[in-house]
Amino acid sequence: MTDQHPIRAGALLSIDLDALCDNWRSLKARLANAECAAVVKADAYGLGAERITPALYRAGCRNFFVAHLNEGIALRPTLPADASIYVLHGPHPGDEREFVHHRLVPVLNSLPQLGAWQALARDLDTVLPAILQVDTGMARLGLAPDEFERVVASPALLLRLSLKFIISHLASAEDQDNPANPLQLARFRQAMARLPGVRGSLANSSGIFLGDDYHFNLVRPGAALYGVAPVAGQTNPMRPVIRLQGKVLQTRTIATGTAVGYSHTWTAQRPSRIATVAVGYADGYLRSLSNRGTVSWDGIPLPLIGNISMDTLIVDITDLPEGRIAEGELLDLADPLNGVDAIAARAGTIGYEILTSLGRRYARRYLGGGEEGV
Ligand SMILES: *Cc1c(COP(=O)(O)O)cnc(C)c1O
Repeated sequence: MTDQHPIRAGALLSIDLDALCDNWRSLKARLANAECAAVVKADAYGLGAERITPALYRAGCRNFFVAHLNEGIALRPTLPADASIYVLHGPHPGDEREFVHHRLVPVLNSLPQLGAWQALARDLDTVLPAILQVDTGMARLGLAPDEFERVVASPALLLRLSLKFIISHLASAEDQDNPANPLQLARFRQAMARLPGVRGSLANSSGIFLGDDYHFNLVRPGAALYGVAPVAGQTNPMRPVIRLQGKVLQTRTIATGTAVGYSHTWTAQRPSRIATVAVGYADGYLRSLSNRGTVSWDGIPLPLIGNISMDTLIVDITDLPEGRIAEGELLDLADPLNGVDAIAARAGTIGYEILTSLGRRYARRYLGGGEEGV
């Protein structure tokens, strides 16, 4: 470990590709017949799509979802031809040909998107693949029920399209008792019944844990792959994927009554030893963790004190044996004992936001990942 110290960066972010692939396999093991895709939008939730995606491919994943066209274009060269890349936002007007050029499959969310994709199929005199999204109760993306009815009532609207899947997205899947879940399920079933023969996909990470009924032909986990707890209020069955270690810049001893950091929001109640760590809110270590976060060293929890600065945070190390923490030492800012969900809870957000905020300044190290071949 010490030979891996991030010499130039303020912190070391370790990403465990073996844990990632184990998570993918354990989600897949919950499925009877459905396929397990991987959602790798937002640079694989901040963990680096160009390393995450090939590792998942080697684990057996063949279906990948991104949000934007440019994410799909970036991903295409990292994956063999038998991998499908679906773009959740679909084409913006005029972008349709780029989808064909880069072999990306759009998720069609509106009648204009559907019409434009079909018009291109006609121009090219071919059949184009697509996913059709229906809104079953999130009111975010996808055809509204009346629009969907118009499509199924006039099959000409689907001519020249090869529908790979019909999909919808759950609004409250992490809350297992939420009545929105069975309601969305019922609406999705109705929609599928109107397009016989087309395969379906409803579940995100949390949706997988709602049971077999929610699996259909393809599930679309993102967060759980990266270690986020899929079910609120239950033990997290996923393996942690990240470890974040911040470098100590300075330590000092302060007297009782000494105020610390911007705006002096913390004052020493005893003679204290404190350490300044080279990670701040510009690295995605959210300022809302000021005076709330926990850091650790060798498993010993240490409180984060005062306001988090742009590039630094300050930790109370009084409870560690004197002299143990010196400049260059690494403190754990996120690790299996203090995971993304725990950090998120203290910051007043969700694990997703902690991951996607992870700093671009960190030195990154990828562990495992089956590169020796599957
Ligand atoms: C982001 C997203 C997912 C993945 O959701 P997780 O909760 O991260 O598993 C699946 N489907 C759609 C449509 C999404 O936007």
